[in-house]
Amino acid sequence: MLNGQYDILFEPLKIGPVTAPNRFVMMPYANGHSYLMPNGAIGIREMRAEGGWGIIGMQLSEIDPTSDLSGLPYERLWDEGDVAVHAKSVERIHAHGALASIELAHTGLRSRGAENGYPAMGPSSLPTLKPEMPYSAKAMDKADIKRLRASFRAAIGRAKRAGYDMAYVYASHDASILWHFLSPHYNQRTDEYGGSFVNRLRLLREVLEEARDEAAGDMAIALRFAVHEASGPKRITCDGEGRHVVEALADLPDLWDVNVSGWSVDSTTSRYARQGYQEEFTSFVKQVTNKPVLGVGRFTSPDTMVSQIKRGVLDMIGSARASIADPFLPNKIREGRIEDIRECIACNICVSTELAGVPVRCTQNPTMSEEWRRGWHPEKVPATTAAQNVLIVGGGPSGLEAALTLARAGHEVTVADKADQLGGRVRREATIKNLATWGRVVDYRLYQLQQMGNVHLFPESELGADGIADFEADQIILATGSHWLRDGQGRSNLSPIPGFQNAALTPDDVLDGAEIMGPVVVYDDDHYYMANALAADLAAKGHEVQIVTPMPTLAGWMGNTLEQPRMVAELLAAGVRMSPNSSAIGWQEDALQVVRSDTGEPQMAISGATLIAVTRRLPDTGLSDALTARGTAHRVIGDAEVPGTIQTAIYSGHRHAREILGSEPADRIFKRERPTLFH
Ligand code: ADP
Ligand code: SF4
Repeated sequence: MLNGQYDILFEPLKIGPVTAPNRFVMMPYANGHSYLMPNGAIGIREMRAEGGWGIIGMQLSEIDPTSDLSGLPYERLWDEGDVAVHAKSVERIHAHGALASIELAHTGLRSRGAENGYPAMGPSSLPTLKPEMPYSAKAMDKADIKRLRASFRAAIGRAKRAGYDMAYVYASHDASILWHFLSPHYNQRTDEYGGSFVNRLRLLREVLEEARDEAAGDMAIALRFAVHEASGPKRITCDGEGRHVVEALADLPDLWDVNVSGWSVDSTTSRYARQGYQEEFTSFVKQVTNKPVLGVGRFTSPDTMVSQIKRGVLDMIGSARASIADPFLPNKIREGRIEDIRECIACNICVSTELAGVPVRCTQNPTMSEEWRRGWHPEKVPATTAAQNVLIVGGGPSGLEAALTLARAGHEVTVADKADQLGGRVRREATIKNLATWGRVVDYRLYQLQQMGNVHLFPESELGADGIADFEADQIILATGSHWLRDGQGRSNLSPIPGFQNAALTPDDVLDGAEIMGPVVVYDDDHYYMANALAADLAAKGHEVQIVTPMPTLAGWMGNTLEQPRMVAELLAAGVRMSPNSSAIGWQEDALQVVRSDTGEPQMAISGATLIAVTRRLPDTGLSDALTARGTAHRVIGDAEVPGTIQTAIYSGHRHAREILGSEPADRIFKRERPTLFH
């Protein structure tokens, strides 16, 4: 049923020679499938086309071998040999009535040159943009510039032959050679491509004009441009050259796709930014150009989307993460099923998996990247022909996801949890400062379960082996979670630390409301969010806090979620002291005894009234052991099987449920992309 208040989101929009069917754009985000895994990548895009996105973006596609992101899973459109795969992707998108776009890019100073054997290139002779990597870029001469322009033009031609409706000229994220030429920081040239603003803009203008010329009115040309750099020297800002670029090129592209740079601020997590956070930087663009404007901002609320369009901030709503978490978001809005939207929690696990070089994973959507290889649909599961009674003990993320999947298939599902509210660790962790958005993981699943007649939810119901036996279920699933260790054993140190067992509080204690006396010492041998989130929370409550870790940097994994610099800044601003490279060897007389992790040299002890050990979790196996001793068949899922992230718990719940449904391969081997053998 169409809900009138959102009609504007479903109005078609003319973009140069093409017309988008609605205002929803799946952005050209990195999906962890390189050109080597086209089937999986097509599966991702096709599912979003089916789900109602009006434009589906092909991820960053390199135009020739001198753009070389070595080791990161991106796309290529180098020559005619690549066209057929792109054409297949376009065909699958068109089959659902969506338009297909491609982001054509040369990554310039972001390149490494290690894979293809050509040096990285840039406006000037500079180190490439990962200072810790031993690569440098060649200053492009006139012949290089000519070749680059020809490469862009040729790639536009190939995109047209592949059937794309729109091609992007990419100049964003500090990851495009066109951006590097524009930047007064990177461009140190003295010829007509360097110096003045007009000279630095020259290459972008030339490439854009030639792209339009080559497209010849058959394909729209979009410009993806970061109007504002959040940090760095000689920044391009929305009240300076960012605005001047839009003024200078105003009506040259058919569509402006605008954002902020770098990637960590463009893809900010919910811990550090609210929905629509880019508006203050991008809202000027529509006042300067007559062409449609597209932007992002982790939009999941249709009201916010409508407001962006009605207030003249944007014409089109771009989504990367929201489309990963819910491929059917547009259709759900069109049908008035707002409560059914599986809202992204902006945790950036997706980013962390892409940076790890694997198919992208999502906390909210366990079917992400499984569309083709496992045949998982985000909205449908195979219906059962023989409904069974399923008992799930534990209503955390894994238990709730398993319950939802099995109930959707038609089974009779009971969830029992000893806690007074369902939600497990997520319900508790969402009470930590700035993590409330994570509660959506529970809210979405509980709401769905509460609508179903074949689901029975029992909080405040602790079950032992006897109670489980009395239930006489056909299937027993234990989703009983894990607990934090108190004795100091962590991820780097596998032995107890003297004095911890009797003195330390664990995150479980803190979340259960244990009394905290300052000063607080937080010992982090976990290296993700828990220690620093608790430290920030306690500091905000007025405690003096010091965080100590054996690693050389704090929370290394948060580098992969793009949060680490902001987290360190947050702790600094809150007055939290940080001691990296410091291994605890004991807790004695209200003080943490530490040595340098690298040399073993003793350090000054760190005094505190409370010690919080954030080290490692162990699965809760008691119930499983008791059932095994009785010979009662059962499955263990989620953190009770392997303690992990919320994403791994959700995924585990989903996979186990599908195994119960009998739709998974018995040998565990899913469909694979097989390389071609030429010999
Ligand atoms: P996961 O991340 O795997 O879903 P959680 O730790 O979030 O695990 O959730 C485990 C849930 O199991 C908690 O809500 C806890 O209260 C519940 N639980 C653990 N043991 C029992 C039990 N014996 N009976 C009922 N509920 C239990
Ligand atoms: Fe959103 Fe997290 Fe899923 Fe990424 S992994 S799409 S941030 S819920």
